Amino acid sequence: MFVVFTADDAIQSYTLDSVNQFLAHRKNPNGCSPKMTYYTSLNYTNYTLVTDWYVAGNEIADHTMTHVGSPPADEINGNLIALNSLAGIPMSAIKGFRAPFLNYSRETLELLYKAQFLYDSSASSAIPVTDPNTDCYWPYTMDYGMANNCLDVPGTCRGEPKLPGMWELPMAAFFDKRGTSGVHLMDPWLDTANGETAVNDTATLEYMKATFTDHYNGNRQPIGIFTHPIHLSTTYPGVASPDSTIKMLNAFLDWAQEQKDVWIVSNEQLLDYVRHPVPLSQLDSVAALKCASPQIDANTKICNGIPQNEEGLLSHCQFSDFPFYTCYGCPEVLPTTDNPNPPQQVPDGQNARFRLPANCSTAFWDPIQGQCSCTSDTCAFTDNSRPIGPNGANLTGGGIGGSFGASPSTTSYIPFNSVPPRFSPGVGNAFAVGVLGAVIGALGVINRF
Ligand SMILES: [Zn+2]
Repeated sequence: MFVVFTADDAIQSYTLDSVNQFLAHRKNPNGCSPKMTYYTSLNYTNYTLVTDWYVAGNEIADHTMTHVGSPPADEINGNLIALNSLAGIPMSAIKGFRAPFLNYSRETLELLYKAQFLYDSSASSAIPVTDPNTDCYWPYTMDYGMANNCLDVPGTCRGEPKLPGMWELPMAAFFDKRGTSGVHLMDPWLDTANGETAVNDTATLEYMKATFTDHYNGNRQPIGIFTHPIHLSTTYPGVASPDSTIKMLNAFLDWAQEQKDVWIVSNEQLLDYVRHPVPLSQLDSVAALKCASPQIDANTKICNGIPQNEEGLLSHCQFSDFPFYTCYGCPEVLPTTDNPNPPQQVPDGQNARFRLPANCSTAFWDPIQGQCSCTSDTCAFTDNSRPIGPNGANLTGGGIGGSFGASPSTTSYIPFNSVPPRFSPGVGNAFAVGVLGAVIGALGVINRF
């Protein structure tokens, strides 16, 4: 059975620390450390940590630029553009979307389809798997419309909207003793259980185990740990550590991993399995579930999302609202929906940094030299363009900021033959990632959804 682990909102050192305390010490049945999905919004995000988290094998997905529900196209597409230019995430790697506040409309789904997202994960189930009318489905395509939240979202369901090939990964809820009256979706540990008046970690653990067991003994629909990791951070300035709740969630995951054939995965790993299912006996061989670190010498000095390689090479972008670090050169102004890829601010005496081009993967790209350090087929990579520019123009990575798709004439990287992108990037141990970023100050915005 799959346990999906996701996080939402800004990526900062203390949110990655928070995720690491649940995942970094674990192993899946194939010996790999579990990966997760981070639905990333941009306010307060430290871009270099997005790069690191991605290169470590985790999924980076879209949660709009400024965290708005029922978002317009520029909120969705601008997130993709900014994460590509300032965090070096390939266009093709940002496959998934979750709506802030889980607030989506029919138009949201249609915008995702236009921008060539592979899946949405904003819908939720509200009927337990033990009910014959459960809406806790395995991921499904929207060839024949939506099948969740039908009463809440006008113009969806009964076959609408038809979005062939785009997937919905409905979020499975937990249920306490009250059943459908006691539904718990995101951060269930912040809720009171069973109609009680105070949060009780023991009661939370009990119903999380009970719901897991219902899934496990039934059709094994994936269950989800859907977090806002800032609520479980021990390093967030000025907030007491929620130690009891952290122990509770680790106890749940310990217990879940004691059950046979339980895997903790990202949504992209889950979806890759669903699209290419194999018998249980062959799960170890599923490429998306494997782990392989990019083969880069630890002594190589290259700003590539691997802490040991990029040490001392980051640009510090000193914006007063939320300063951040990046490998790819600071923008003159913070990205906005009107201008998601501002021109680069080049320090005196330095050259502009080169953004990730379409023919090199993040770990192998040297943004300072403008070179791809990959010289073999095993690390070859080809990104896709996406129709996310003005009036649906196709955009690709590369350039130095200020525009897309225009490679500067000075680049000297080695082009590759076109090969399909690997589904999962090389995977290292996520453990070292969270400690790199500077604490940005007590600026974070806490969102419940
Ligand atoms: Zn959010």
